[in-house]
Amino acid sequence: MTPTRKILIVGAGIGGLSAAIALAQAGLEVDVVEIEAASRAPGVGFGLRTNGMRAIRELGLLDACVAIGTVGAGLTYYDNEGNHLCDLYYEEGEEGMPSNLNLSRLGFVEAATARATELGCRFRMSATVSSLEQDPDGVDVVFSDGGSGRYDLVIGYDGVNSQIRDEYFGTQYGPTPAGGVAWRIPLPRPEGLESTMFCQGYGGKFVFAPLPDDLMYIVLTVAEQDRPRYDPAEMPQIMYERARALMGDSTFMAESIELIRSAPSVTYSPYSTVWVPYPWFRGRVMIMGDAAHAMVPYLGSGAAMGIEDGVVIAQELGRDQSLVETQIRFMARRLPRVRAVRDRSMESMYQEFDTLTDEALQRRYAWLRHDEPIANEYSNRLLAQPY
Ligand SMILES: Cc1cc2nc3c(=O)[nH]c(=O)nc-3n(C[C@H](O)[C@H](O)[C@H](O)COP(=O)(O)OP(=O)(O)OC[C@H]3O[C@@H](n4cnc5c(N)ncnc54)[C@H](O)[C@@H]3O)c2cc1C
Repeated sequence: MTPTRKILIVGAGIGGLSAAIALAQAGLEVDVVEIEAASRAPGVGFGLRTNGMRAIRELGLLDACVAIGTVGAGLTYYDNEGNHLCDLYYEEGEEGMPSNLNLSRLGFVEAATARATELGCRFRMSATVSSLEQDPDGVDVVFSDGGSGRYDLVIGYDGVNSQIRDEYFGTQYGPTPAGGVAWRIPLPRPEGLESTMFCQGYGGKFVFAPLPDDLMYIVLTVAEQDRPRYDPAEMPQIMYERARALMGDSTFMAESIELIRSAPSVTYSPYSTVWVPYPWFRGRVMIMGDAAHAMVPYLGSGAAMGIEDGVVIAQELGRDQSLVETQIRFMARRLPRVRAVRDRSMESMYQEFDTLTDEALQRRYAWLRHDEPIANEYSNRLLAQPY
C-alpha cells in the first residue's frame, strides 16, 4: 500500500483553503492551484454555526475568526405588515466557543491563507490544471503556467462551475437552477430597525439587516424559475416590482421599498445547486465543497459542509488504510450528512415560496408561528451532529 503523501487542491476558496490546512496539519505535503491572482471570495459575508465553529477550531482558525466575526443571537420572523411571528435561535455553542459567527468572506480567506502558508502549503496563483493523467500509483498534472507535478491525490474544490467535475465526472452534473433568486441592495436604515427582520410576504421574503453607518442591507428572495438575464439598468425597477408584489397592500417599509427603484444598481443572484451522486472520486481525483454539493443558502451551511469535507478527508487519510478505503469511509461519513443538510435547505426554500395566494400565505404564517420553531430545532440538531 503506497501511502498518500502529496496532495493537490484545485481552488483556494473557503473549502479548498480549509482542506489544505487540515491536510497540512496531518503532515501531508499540499500544493494549491487557484485560477485567480488572489483568492476570490464572491459575496460579502457568510455564517458558521456550531458545526462550522468546531471545524474551524480543528483548523486552528477559531481565534482569528472570532477576532473578525460578529455573533448573532438568531433570527426573528414577521409578516408583511411587520407583526411578530416567531423567534428562532441557533443551537448552543460548545464551551469556549460562540454558537455562531458572521464572517467577512475576504477576512476568512485572508486568515486561512495565512494559516495554510504558515503550515507549508505552496500556492500557485493565476493558474489552473491544463492536463491530468492518472496511473495506478499517482497523478501527473501539468499547469496552465507551464509547471507540473506528480501527486498521490488531486481534490477539486473549484466551486459550483468546477472544471475538475466537468472533465473527470461529466458535464451532466453541472449546476441546476434552484428556482429561487436573491435581489440585494444597501439602503439608508429606517428609524427603529435595530435587529435583523425576516419578513415573509407573497411568494418570498425580505431580510432587513441593519449595517453600521445608518445603513441597512435588503435581501429579497423570490421564486424565479427560468433565471432570465436582465439588463442591469432595468434591475432596480424589476426588484422594486418584485418587492411590491411581495408586500401586497401593506405599507410596512414602503418608503424604503420606494428607494429601490431609483438605486444606481442592485445585485441579482440566481441560486444554483449541484449534486454529484456517489461517489465523489474517480481513481485518485476527488471533488469536494460546492464542486460536489452546492446547496441553496437556507440553512447557511454550504461553506460549512465544504470545510467539514476537508477536516474529514484529513482524518481518514491519517488512518492505516488504502486510498480507496479512505475514499469509501469519507463518502460513508459525508454523503448522508450533506444530503440531509441539502434537503432541509431546499425544503425551507420551497416552504417560503409556496405563499403566492392569500390562503397559502396565511397557512405559512400559521406554520411560522407554531411549527417553524420545531423545524428549526431539528435543523440545529442536524447541524450539531458529529461530521
Ligand atoms: C447568497 C449566498 C449566501 C450563502 N451564505 C452561506 C452561509 O451563511 N454559510 C455557509 O456555510 N455557506 C453559505 N453559502 C454557501 C457558500 O458560499 C459556498 O458553499 C462556499 O463558498 C463554497 O466553497 P468552495 O470552496 O467549495 O467554493 P468557492 O468558494 O466557490 O471557491 C472555489 C475556488 O476555486 C477557484 N477556481 C474556480 N475554477 C478554478 C479552476 N479551474 N482552477 C483553479 N481554481 C479555480 C475559484 O476562483 C475560487 O477561489 C452561501 C451561498 C450563497 C450563494
